[in-house]
Amino acid sequence: MDIRQAFLDFFASKGHKIYESAPLVPEDATLLFTNAGMVPFKSVFTGEVPAPNPPRAASCQTCIRAGGKHNDLENVGHTARHHTFFEMLGNFSFGDYFKEDAIAYAWEFVTEVLELPVEKLWVTVHESDDEAEAIWAKYIARERILRMGDKDNFWQMGDTGPCGPCSEIFFDQGEEHFHGPEDYMGGDGDRFLEIWNLVFMQYERDKEGNLTPLPKPSIDTGMGLERVVAVKEGKLSNYDTELFMPIIREVEKMVGKPYVYADGASYRVIADHLRSTTFLLAQGVNFSNEGRGYVLRRILRRAVRHGYMLGLREPFMFKLVDTLVKIMGDHYTYLKDKQETVKQLMQLEEERFFATIAAGIELFEKELEKTKKLFSGAVAFKLYDTYGFPLDLTQDMLKDKGLEVDIAEFERLMQEQRERAKAAWKGSGDAKVEGDFKALIEAFGKNTFVGYDNLTAESKVL
Ligand code: ATP
Ligand code: MG
Ligand code: MG
Ligand code: MG
Repeated sequence: MDIRQAFLDFFASKGHKIYESAPLVPEDATLLFTNAGMVPFKSVFTGEVPAPNPPRAASCQTCIRAGGKHNDLENVGHTARHHTFFEMLGNFSFGDYFKEDAIAYAWEFVTEVLELPVEKLWVTVHESDDEAEAIWAKYIARERILRMGDKDNFWQMGDTGPCGPCSEIFFDQGEEHFHGPEDYMGGDGDRFLEIWNLVFMQYERDKEGNLTPLPKPSIDTGMGLERVVAVKEGKLSNYDTELFMPIIREVEKMVGKPYVYADGASYRVIADHLRSTTFLLAQGVNFSNEGRGYVLRRILRRAVRHGYMLGLREPFMFKLVDTLVKIMGDHYTYLKDKQETVKQLMQLEEERFFATIAAGIELFEKELEKTKKLFSGAVAFKLYDTYGFPLDLTQDMLKDKGLEVDIAEFERLMQEQRERAKAAWKGSGDAKVEGDFKALIEAFGKNTFVGYDNLTAESKVL
């Protein structure tokens, strides 16, 4: 079953206009990347732009969650259901239908099109939302409607922007997958899989955090394609599906060791990061030391580090692009057009990092032996500055050891370097400023951007 198409056809039959996926780099400058299907419609929700005709839409939107409010970079490889890049199926109402129809459509799609067994479905509503609960009670037993707080059932795009209470549909993967609280709704475990979020768009949050009602209550929903594919294929992990396994099989061949789920995190990280880096490159984002290009660089270097851990010693990511294009190129045809360019850019970036990774890892290991609690900020800085290890990569390498980088020291060295660069700039004289600036960038600017290293799930967006 082509779930993507089935979803779009279903909502077209309900009077929705089907929209193409918008670019990963959004027009909205408050966001790093498009992180949900509603992003391209943000100004319609806020009322800045009049609602299109018909005032209902559906899409399959490519999303990246690797920074800002929604950041799943740290989850990748560790949970069965998070990716940095994923496709979000969504239907939207711009002041047209509201809770009643949104719930009716979702229920019909899930039970009649996807044919998921009713006895495996659960739903959550916001703790204050009697109305949504009453509507759901028409379809599902009350015991399986749970009320949750803001953390799980209040959705927002970023620190500012449209938001509202929401209601989510969960799929019960079976009692045998219940090991503890993390397997419950809202946790990162396996028993209850969140598949679909219906957001009742009612507010806009401003910079001070105040909520103002939107001109018209609207609907924004999002369902992860990869999760639905996993459920339909009867797989516990998204990574076990046909969307990822062909890539993992290629990595297996390169590494020469079979992929085993239990200690296969590196394989999964590589498969995931291949998707986000390929799509970003194909859409024209390039490796750089700042902004989105630096996020791209960080993602690729993380993947390379995982390949290195699996024993790979030369560029490999670029060789996986063909497999990904086979899986996704028919739907995203620009992948085919950009295939060779993407491979070249990726290979160059891999070469750059492979040139220093061994020495960097050696330095890291040596320091690790000496480390009790805080990993030296000076060594993290050297790794960053000399060996091209973004700070978050070093942090990631320390994570399973329960260790942290001495951030204060790292920041101090970073600041010193910035000042050195500034001083050198001032002394350069203004006659050939441009040339000197270029030289400076080459000398100092190599890795001087750390802004996004410090972005956490709850911190600023851009
Ligand atoms: P989770 O609680 O699992 O992290 P979420 O509540 O953050 O998901 P939403 O913001 O509600 O996710 O997004 C709507 C839907 O998009 C989710 O129900 C899920 O199906 C899908 N989704 C969200 N994040 C990811 C991700 N990182 N990878 C794959 N699918 C995702
Ligand atoms: Mg999440
Ligand atoms: Mg959730
Ligand atoms: Mg959710």
